[in-house]
Amino acid sequence: KPIANGTSPQTHITKASKRSKIDYRAQALALRPQRERLPIYSARAAIVREIRKHPTVVIVGETGSGKTTQIPQYLLEAGFSQYGHTAIAVTQPRRVAATSIAKRVAEEVGTQLGARVGYTIRFEDCSSDKTQIKFCTDGLLLREILADPLLTKYSVVILDEAHERTLRTDILLGMLKDIQRTRAAQSANGSAKEGSAGALKIVVMSATLDAERFSEYFDNAPVLYVAGRQFPVTTYFTTTPQSDYLDSAHLTVLQIHTETPSTSGDILVFLSGQEDIENVERLLRESAAHFSPGVPQLLLCPIFAALPPSQQARVFEPPPEFTRKVVLATNIAETSLTITGIRHVVDAGVHKVRGFDPRVGESLLVEPISKSSARQRTGRAGREAAGFCYRLYTEADFAQLPEDSVPEIKRCHLAMVMLQLKAAGVSNVLAFDFMDRPSKRALKHALLELYALDALDDKGELTALGRWMSEFPLEPAYSKVIYASQQAGCTREVIDIVSLLSVDTLFYIPADKRDESNAAQLAFRSSDGDHLTYLNLLRAYTQANADPTWCQEHFVNRRNMRHVLDVRQQLNRLCTRLGMDINKSCGSDLDAVLKCFLSGFFHNCALLQPDGSYRSLSGSQTVHIHPASALFGKKVPAIFYDQLVFTNRLHARAVSAADPFWIAQASPKLYGRLASSVSS
Ligand code: ADP
Ligand code: MG
Repeated sequence: KPIANGTSPQTHITKASKRSKIDYRAQALALRPQRERLPIYSARAAIVREIRKHPTVVIVGETGSGKTTQIPQYLLEAGFSQYGHTAIAVTQPRRVAATSIAKRVAEEVGTQLGARVGYTIRFEDCSSDKTQIKFCTDGLLLREILADPLLTKYSVVILDEAHERTLRTDILLGMLKDIQRTRAAQSANGSAKEGSAGALKIVVMSATLDAERFSEYFDNAPVLYVAGRQFPVTTYFTTTPQSDYLDSAHLTVLQIHTETPSTSGDILVFLSGQEDIENVERLLRESAAHFSPGVPQLLLCPIFAALPPSQQARVFEPPPEFTRKVVLATNIAETSLTITGIRHVVDAGVHKVRGFDPRVGESLLVEPISKSSARQRTGRAGREAAGFCYRLYTEADFAQLPEDSVPEIKRCHLAMVMLQLKAAGVSNVLAFDFMDRPSKRALKHALLELYALDALDDKGELTALGRWMSEFPLEPAYSKVIYASQQAGCTREVIDIVSLLSVDTLFYIPADKRDESNAAQLAFRSSDGDHLTYLNLLRAYTQANADPTWCQEHFVNRRNMRHVLDVRQQLNRLCTRLGMDINKSCGSDLDAVLKCFLSGFFHNCALLQPDGSYRSLSGSQTVHIHPASALFGKKVPAIFYDQLVFTNRLHARAVSAADPFWIAQASPKLYGRLASSVSS
């Protein structure tokens, strides 16, 4: 049955593309003048020439100059990709950027998305073996190296947004450098097999000027600078520090909207993440409902990493007449995406970063941005004409900001990428050619975790289980949980919960309906904690057939639930491919499910103290149960949690109760002593 399902959409695609072939071409022709007006257009010949001449080229250009959309096309037109044979890969740090830019480039090239131009992101593949320009996340390309160590499918890899220095971009830099060297040696001494890909071209693209580091790293690769267009932007600061930036953002948007005509340009608001965005969206919607007649309406367009592709398009479309577009974005709109029509920028001055502290493990933090980010955000107001930027912080606070953010690799948990490096055959990860070397302590900590998870043996070599775990686009702790679920006979429940944990929030809690929303959530609550509460929610959601009214009544975030179902489908497919039985279900014996989670999350445990607080097992830090948790205010002997979030203090999110004995059992390597003390 699945096979029949798999073939029918394809026939559908061929038919559709035949019918509308002419439309694609007409669309591409119509976009040509726009393409030719971009600042990068005049540098076209020079860019192609330099890339032909050098193995690696670094390109620096202001946001909106045309790097991401144009350079892959220039290389395509210059014959760098052979149809059906080699492709050009373009990596992006964020999935939203990969999908929406692919859509735009497909239009410019004049092809159906997924045909000559496509994208692949975690849990979603919209490309074929005929795809010539493929946008993907940096993490996805890293995964492809596991299956194809020399990336022979690609003649060119473009590392976009390199200035962001994400963990995965940094790892890719090192791996690509090595792959390039190997492929060059193979083609030079003729050892390459007939029809192999030949040399690999690397293009590193950055929106900020400090590109010298990339050049040095790639043996003094040439740096090309593309001039941008930038109109003056008038910048305002607040006079006093703002205690609630969500409320300030809301009020600032209203002020801009009522004090300037809507024809003076759209508004772009930078916030830290999906939760912030959905809160401000709600505040604005409520205010807009009370606009006096004659005040133009607001078109609210959220954009953040987990937004499904179907909902992204609105951001790029011009608003209807007598309507002003308000884009609510994370730092995705800082340099990755260009949204036309923006003249007002509101900058809350914060972003969400992943941090790691060996004493508490990985956590998510909302932190002040860097000066360099603040300037990029301001720049978004002056793309088409003079604009305005409202910074929701004081000038003195701005002066205190760091010049640049610290590269992720210096502050992140490294277990997943270390596992990938090992699986890609880099046995001595300590000697890897990092552009910025993580601390020895962080590297050792990651290796130790992989050892405790049984992904590495005591010599530091990848185990069979480790190799199996590396197949999953998940943090190793989750793949370990899925592994454990086979023997425990609860794979179905575990995959459900892992999928549910892939989104930030499952509920939405309007500020003015907090009580109602809490009451609605009680229906799903499990006394064991959030993991099983989420499972109850998913079951109820499925039973209600994802009915929108049902979701509204129960304050369920539909957008995120849809994403959960996508992730579940992909995980089911992957597990089936790996020979697992995804229908193994434990029925009502849900302790088995919790024990499985502990086999991956024994690092994230805390024990109840005599004073009623919880103290983490790994680092003796006090952790607080998140107010949104089913266990909030409850006292159980031990808890484990999915994640720590640092706001004013350390909050554990997605928390469940655990038997201390289970914890000891889950990792004898770490808690051997605990195990004997508990059992004696
Ligand atoms: P860069 O990578 O240098 O920041 P891009 O290649 O992303 O620049 O964008 C170049 C131009 O293409 C933008 O200025 C914008 O006018 C246009 N553009 C990009 N994406 C879209 C889109 N989805 N819809 C409409 N125009 C777009
Ligand atoms: Mg770009």
